[in-house]
Amino acid sequence: MRAQNVIVVGAGVIGVTTAHALRAEGHHVTLLEAAPTAASGTSHANGGFLSAAFCAPWAMPGLPRQALAALFDRTAPFRWRPDGSLAQLRWLRELLANCRADRFAAHRQRMVRLALCSLAELRAVAAETGVAFDLREAGVLLLLREAPPDQVIQQRLASLRALGFDAQWCDPAQVLALEPALARQGRPAWGLLVRDDACGDCESFVQGLLAWNQARGLRFVPGSPVEALELDHGGQRLRAVRTPGQRWEADAFVFAAGVDTVRMLHPHLRLPVVPVKGYSVSADLAEQDHGLGHPAPQRAVIDDATKLAIAPLGNSVRLAGMAEVVGHDRRVDRSRCHQLVAQYEALYGPLPRREHRLWAGLRPMTADGTPIIGATRIEGLYLNTGHGTYGWTLACGSARLLADTLAGRPGALAPADYALDPALRSRQ
Ligand SMILES: Cc1cc2nc3c(=O)[nH]c(=O)nc-3n(C[C@H](O)[C@H](O)[C@H](O)COP(=O)(O)OP(=O)(O)OC[C@H]3O[C@@H](n4cnc5c(N)ncnc54)[C@H](O)[C@@H]3O)c2cc1C
Repeated sequence: MRAQNVIVVGAGVIGVTTAHALRAEGHHVTLLEAAPTAASGTSHANGGFLSAAFCAPWAMPGLPRQALAALFDRTAPFRWRPDGSLAQLRWLRELLANCRADRFAAHRQRMVRLALCSLAELRAVAAETGVAFDLREAGVLLLLREAPPDQVIQQRLASLRALGFDAQWCDPAQVLALEPALARQGRPAWGLLVRDDACGDCESFVQGLLAWNQARGLRFVPGSPVEALELDHGGQRLRAVRTPGQRWEADAFVFAAGVDTVRMLHPHLRLPVVPVKGYSVSADLAEQDHGLGHPAPQRAVIDDATKLAIAPLGNSVRLAGMAEVVGHDRRVDRSRCHQLVAQYEALYGPLPRREHRLWAGLRPMTADGTPIIGATRIEGLYLNTGHGTYGWTLACGSARLLADTLAGRPGALAPADYALDPALRSRQ
């Protein structure tokens, strides 16, 4: 395979893993990033979950009802502020169309296939590079306040096991054995444990992987926002991109700029990606907190009732949640973050009263949940974006698929499933 000059745009988890996969193939890779550092966008303080088992599209049966109820509940995780744009309305229409059970099942399978490939790839990259990111391989526990009927439990277990997951149903005693800290509030909970899943700090991984690649020839150019595209042959081929004061030519360009990819490629390509805002709170748990009766969570936990995601990351705990369709508004709404803390404290008891780090990020969300990876109708222009709720989980597999596509090599995944044109995506 001929080594090519490749420009990757965006140094979030998707751009950096893509740059890593392409550099490993012998390409000359330049990574352009608008911000002064990598992982300063949505990859900065996400929930930390590395979960293939819970990887599922947002568009599912029941979502329309939940969304309607949310309009009258200020504390609901979901919030929608119409921005009057045709793009948002079109996206919502597609989202609702994808809430059918058959479509949900097909899209979920596609996401899980990518996630499984991705987590295997992530472990291989971590072993090869030695990058440290507080990886905790203790599974993911879904907490339920009430036990569902036995038939529902059996169906859920069967569907997870059919996909190859090591899943186990837990009664309240087993849940407490897994998560002793839940005993503090004394609320009984049932649980679904998937042992294959994990959690880890996305930002540390991105920073570490970037440094590792820079030491091996990757050219990283921070503070370089791509402002314009130069196409030739009547708009059929991408020749160069422009950043302030500089023009960059390459054989291939990969756009991995998260929610900003849409605006950057307008009007050349229309991407069905909308920002969905979420929040996180990071709280340090020092040694003495354990003595004061605040043992940290042992593994990644999802509270089914509130959709709160809890992940122990090194000596801190990360709380994440909420889904707001409110355009590109990146402001941190403190009341939403306080809501996350209250939801956590109702389960695990009071967090130590030192300063917490509050954050908001925009998930680049497609209407069917599946990211867009691969070539486009514009020669030389490749996409790796739209990873929505699970970009950290899906990153290394998406990078592998992109590298395979660029090489014209068949891989473990069907490229058509992740094509920009939804008509190409299989419904199997
Ligand atoms: C609250 C929350 C919790 C989440 N929890 C999880 C989780 O537990 N597990 C999971 O798997 N996923 C999770 N996610 C999703 C995950 O964080 C995202 O899918 C992922 O970070 C997207 O990565 P990205 O590289 O596409 O985007 P980003 O990280 O946003 O990176 C895009 C980069 O492009 C740069 N850029 C933008 N415009 C330009 C330009 N013009 N020129 C050059 N560079 C540009 C930006 O500065 C940015 O650095 C969560 C997201 C949120 C918001």
